[in-house]
Amino acid sequence: MENTDLVRQAKTEIRKMIIARIREMSKEKKKIRQSDFMSEQIAEHMLEHFHEVIDRKQYEEIVVNLFTELQERQRERKESPNGKKKIIETQNLHKIYEMGTEKVHALRGVSFLIEKNEYVSIMGPSGSGKSTLMNIIGCLDTATDGDYIFTGENVSYMNDNQLAEIRNREIGFVFQTFNLLSRTTVLHNVELPLIYSGLPAAQRKEMAMGALGKVGMLDRVKHKPNEISGGERQRVAIARALVNNPSLILADEPTGNLDSKTGDDILDAIGEIHSSGNTIIMVTHEEYVAAKSGRIIRLHDGLIASDEITDNGKNKK
Ligand code: ADP
Repeated sequence: MENTDLVRQAKTEIRKMIIARIREMSKEKKKIRQSDFMSEQIAEHMLEHFHEVIDRKQYEEIVVNLFTELQERQRERKESPNGKKKIIETQNLHKIYEMGTEKVHALRGVSFLIEKNEYVSIMGPSGSGKSTLMNIIGCLDTATDGDYIFTGENVSYMNDNQLAEIRNREIGFVFQTFNLLSRTTVLHNVELPLIYSGLPAAQRKEMAMGALGKVGMLDRVKHKPNEISGGERQRVAIARALVNNPSLILADEPTGNLDSKTGDDILDAIGEIHSSGNTIIMVTHEEYVAAKSGRIIRLHDGLIASDEITDNGKNKK
């Protein structure tokens, strides 16, 4: 790329950053790191004044360096040093619920990184903050403080509409209670997440059939949820979570409502989904369920008590 192109692009990028930051500031509730703000102020100042005091070539060099640094920062948000894609990075997440005059500190500084194609269980006693954390990870709620970076985007400051868009596009949910629409067919249930995508009906059907194929449910597509078993319902729910090829599958006690044999079948299905390249986070109370994943994060009193690779995870390395 010609230097002048880079300069132009750098200026646009830097302006966008400044505008985004000012918008965030005006939402006042969120704290801004002084250092971030300073560097952008300096960048702005450089853009405005440097060419007045130094020659054009030097000026361009400075802007190009600045841009390269910005690109590097962006890359660091998206990739680990080992080149693996980052799906989730949380930095010092806090959640405080205010109930009248009482404050409940549900998360007290939770930081972790989850890379593409990890399979992670979240465990912890009741009240330790699991649901709170899952709601934040699933973009259903935001933290009181700290940063949540999802596939390179800082979602900490997003509004409800922006969160909903990320949720619909990037996250597939699997619930303990399946949450299927009872009056409509298996096929239609799986097509639902695609309805707002603007895809033509034929393509939606093809994608839904593809997802149902991955969970072995092609022979039940015209059935309604009450005409299939609990395990089959959960398979359909997994197909629905997969259908738009999300960056993350979030499963909340996916085997909690199933007998142990059916639960094992569902865990096998989730294992296959993981083997085919998906990233999975699962909340569970059961040690044997968590042992099927590759890594267990245990919460206690709103903090990470331990974060360990399972034997299963070690074998896969
Ligand atoms: P877990 O899922 O591990 O049981 P939660 O995330 O549900 O834990 O809860 C963590 C703490 O936050 C608990 O003390 C709980 O009572 C409190 N809490 C959770 N949700 C709310 C809420 N909406 N309002 C007030 N307090 C809440």
